[in-house]
Amino acid sequence: MNPVRVVLASGNANKLREFSELLGGTCVEFTRQSDLGIEPPPETGVTFLENALIKARNAAARTGLPAIADDSGIEVDALGGAPGVYSARYAGEGASDEQNLAKLLAALDAVPDDARGARYRCVVVFVERADDPAPIVGEGSWEGSIIRERRGDGGFGYDPSFVPRGDSRTVAQMPQDEKHGKSHRGIALRAFLAAYSARAVR
Ligand code: IMP
Repeated sequence: MNPVRVVLASGNANKLREFSELLGGTCVEFTRQSDLGIEPPPETGVTFLENALIKARNAAARTGLPAIADDSGIEVDALGGAPGVYSARYAGEGASDEQNLAKLLAALDAVPDDARGARYRCVVVFVERADDPAPIVGEGSWEGSIIRERRGDGGFGYDPSFVPRGDSRTVAQMPQDEKHGKSHRGIALRAFLAAYSARAVR
């Protein structure tokens, strides 16, 4: 299959690095929207899907190219699913990963160890053009829990305190390749790639 050239509608450096590792050797070749001078739109949606669509349609509209976007975050059971779509700005607009994680650990301070369940979620969206009526969507989630401390220096965001179900390490203590094999983003991208390939052979 000929590679498809797309614009990747993300400005988050850590997510861009993960996309680049996950999409290496696949049928998708991407250019970052920032390299084309595209500013990210406001994320006004209330679901991951809505926000991913907003970002993908904006990038396609501004470049005339097919576009891929993802929206992701962490849902914490004891917080009724928060911070969810607000994960990147949980501690306020422009907050750092460290500030967001500090706010989460403080919010969970009184929550017992057996009630700290959480999951990462990711939705990947591909549009051929801005008004594409049939976007391709891939979704992934990764179950685990939030521990009280930070461990490890890999990954990003909430990784130092997220322990996947069945593991004793945090994601920040996990080799990056292993993260890609298990993560919400890896699952969502592979689901998208399978759906894209199935559409292409039709
Ligand atoms: P988005 O750019 O609106 O999709 O924001 C995603 C936010 O969710 C990130 O800034 C992180 O706070 C969090 N997040 C998403 N995926 C991960 C991950 O793989 N590890 C750690 N944090 C993540």
